[in-house]
Amino acid sequence: MKAIVFNAHGGPDVLKFTDAPDPAIRPNEVLVRVKACALNHLDIWVRRGIPGVPIPLPHIPGSDVSGEIAQIGSDVTTVRVGQKVALAPGVTCGKCAACVSGQDNHCRQFTNLGYLIDGGCAEFVRAPEVNCLPYPENLSLEEAASIPLVFQTAWHMILARAELQPAEDILVIGAGSGVGSAAIQIAKFFGARVLATAGTDEKLQKAKQLGADHLINHKTQKIREEVRRVTNKRGVDVVFEHVGTATWDDSLASLAPGGRLVTCGATTGYDAKVDLRYLFTRQLSLLGSYMGTKSELHSVMRLVASGHFKPIVDRIFPLAEAAAAHSYLESSLQFGKVVLSV
Ligand SMILES: [Zn+2]
Repeated sequence: MKAIVFNAHGGPDVLKFTDAPDPAIRPNEVLVRVKACALNHLDIWVRRGIPGVPIPLPHIPGSDVSGEIAQIGSDVTTVRVGQKVALAPGVTCGKCAACVSGQDNHCRQFTNLGYLIDGGCAEFVRAPEVNCLPYPENLSLEEAASIPLVFQTAWHMILARAELQPAEDILVIGAGSGVGSAAIQIAKFFGARVLATAGTDEKLQKAKQLGADHLINHKTQKIREEVRRVTNKRGVDVVFEHVGTATWDDSLASLAPGGRLVTCGATTGYDAKVDLRYLFTRQLSLLGSYMGTKSELHSVMRLVASGHFKPIVDRIFPLAEAAAAHSYLESSLQFGKVVLSV
């Protein structure tokens, strides 16, 4: 098959469009003919290399897949050949206490397609049967591939971790990202007031179209001051973080007493400071979040199929131009998802 493969970590130029062996499926797995693979910041970390994470080389990246089932293993019973499918990105053991309690993102063997195993930037990918999600027929293949990772992540952050309540205020940092555009929709669906930040007015207008109530241009406005102004000096109940060092101080300073900051990433850096006096006197909660559960993803997919959530596709590149797609994603010019079409 044709695939995007890298043999060494580095810049986008390490990504080669080349031949790779067809994946061999196990009895509990399916082989998916990939039609679209959406990119995530995870793809960039994996390509650059992550200290202490032994990514097997050569490696095929790509976590967010839509396509058609080409072959099923002998134990597979719930899907059939020819069926359209979107794949849950998280691959777990399915047997441990975390997995059987429905907290599969706590599984010690948790990985993603395209992380410690080969992913979907290829003509074919193998995945466990339990990763097959019902295909939302109202979406194109590129749109369907844009849903799983970011919506699952945002859902877990907002509901499972920050426990957002109706009528609360949430500050969504980085509304132009895939996870930010998902967060706005989820927070609005659950009845929150959304303050959203982005670096251009064009991105802010798109955030408004998704339902954001107040817009903050972080290039021309100070986030914490705008939050104070909009909330009558109170601050927000929840801050949705993934940007890291560049926004961390503003994010913390934007919290109301008793507020919760939830984070799933550190795109601009991981070295952040916390004034402990501020943390305890204001009774703040700092919450980490990583991916989400398959059960949460099934909820997301139902709300996608019913038209409540829509993926935001910024730009589609052919698979062979994965390197250009990575460069574009790293430029932060996009609003929503960058997708490879196969
Ligand atoms: Zn497990």
